[in-house]
Amino acid sequence: MPSAKNNHAQSVVIVGGGAAGLMTAFELSKHKIAVTILESKQRLGGRIHTLYDDSFSQPVETGAEFIHGHAPVTLSLLNEAGISYHAINDTMGRIENGVFNYENNFEGHWNLLMKEMVSLQQDMPLAVFIDTYFGEDKYAELRSFVKNFAGGFDLADISTASTKALYREWSEEMGTQYRVDGGYKRLIDFLETKCRDNGCSIHFSCCAKKISWHKNEVNVLSMCSHLFKANKIVIAVPVSVLQADAGSSDYIEFSPAIPQHIKAAKNIGFGAVIKVILEFHENFWKANTKDAGMIFMQHEVVPTWWTQSPVENNILTGWIGNEHAKSLQGETDEVILYKAIQSLANSFGIPTEKIHKNLKAYKIANWCKEPDIYGGYSFSTVESATAKNVLRQPVNDTIFFSGEALFEGSPGGTVEAALSSGRKTAEAVLKTL
Ligand SMILES: Cc1cc2nc3c(=O)[nH]c(=O)nc-3n(C[C@H](O)[C@H](O)[C@H](O)COP(=O)(O)OP(=O)(O)OC[C@H]3O[C@@H](n4cnc5c(N)ncnc54)[C@H](O)[C@@H]3O)c2cc1C
Repeated sequence: MPSAKNNHAQSVVIVGGGAAGLMTAFELSKHKIAVTILESKQRLGGRIHTLYDDSFSQPVETGAEFIHGHAPVTLSLLNEAGISYHAINDTMGRIENGVFNYENNFEGHWNLLMKEMVSLQQDMPLAVFIDTYFGEDKYAELRSFVKNFAGGFDLADISTASTKALYREWSEEMGTQYRVDGGYKRLIDFLETKCRDNGCSIHFSCCAKKISWHKNEVNVLSMCSHLFKANKIVIAVPVSVLQADAGSSDYIEFSPAIPQHIKAAKNIGFGAVIKVILEFHENFWKANTKDAGMIFMQHEVVPTWWTQSPVENNILTGWIGNEHAKSLQGETDEVILYKAIQSLANSFGIPTEKIHKNLKAYKIANWCKEPDIYGGYSFSTVESATAKNVLRQPVNDTIFFSGEALFEGSPGGTVEAALSSGRKTAEAVLKTL
């Protein structure tokens, strides 16, 4: 990492106290730069939000939960912090009418899909690709699976999602996945402590509303009645916030405007997600699903579930991505809970009332309604690669961007993507000091 030349006179404001903002602050503050973090919520972590609630028998992850495959930045931070993590059991299976199986009905079709995807010359939205190459009736089930898979796992809207980017992601070996012992929040706590030790100041309930700037001078008008001044600013908010229209509650005004960067942000996809965490008095799925860690129910409103395996307990987590999430986002928690229980009842062949009576605790994490985030994570559209390049270029060496959506690599949309982006942003800022 380059070092700042005249750092004693330099100050940086970071808007957003998620993984990317904290990582940027951590790296910059090592160079004795005066760093101020503005976070609109009363907590740090953003989409990392471990819930420590006594009604559950253990901490539960309402946001990020897994360390996906190759995650060198995340793992090295956890090691530095002395925070342990454990490999998960990600064996997958499907359940229908109480019958569980590990088999994939259309492996042949899936292989064909991957073959066509890799040989595609000109990128196109996934919907156009599957209609063009897999439009025949015999592929109907494959089409529905691909749409659900892209919408569920990648939170991707297939009408805009990049076929080439999805190919890159789907063809990569995921590798071992992990959970952080005691919750992802421990990583946020570690970064917060380091930042404070290095002299960063952190302001909560402090939503940035207007950024007035010229080269090497920034004034930030915020909701916490302070005016913040700095030489540089890092915007580490979700890309969904940059996509907001003037007049909406999460809109940030730039003066003078930065149209090229805002247009780029609008060209990146951002998916919707609702997570349903249920703890039961008794485990009713283990006998049916053998050792599966991930359980799919193809035709249900809540189609993807996972256990905490290899940790043995009575918690099941349901995942509602993109289209299903959008259709439910305005519903109450009770309605979403009912739909989740109905999905379990249909698939396991158990009466809804019986599952309801067995319920000990629940949490509906409706990220579509979460202020200053409004969704899950980014996905690549056909325009994303160009858009990310634009966002990685600072505006006049004064306004910098950071966040999971800027990461160019795989897997995207992750904590690793956010931390890596934060580190890269710090490097870019340091080069200009
Ligand atoms: C339900 C869910 C499950 C997920 N599961 C996983 C997983 O298993 N593994 C994984 O690796 N990733 C997962 N992710 C993705 C991961 O959580 C994110 O990619 C990552 O945490 C994003 O970090 P970030 O710093 O880029 O953004 P954020 O965490 O969103 O941080 C941005 C911060 O900016 C703040 N902010 C917004 N506007 C303003 C403003 N005007 N002023 C001040 N502050 C503002 C927000 O409140 C927020 O705290 C999941 C995400 C969700 C929602």
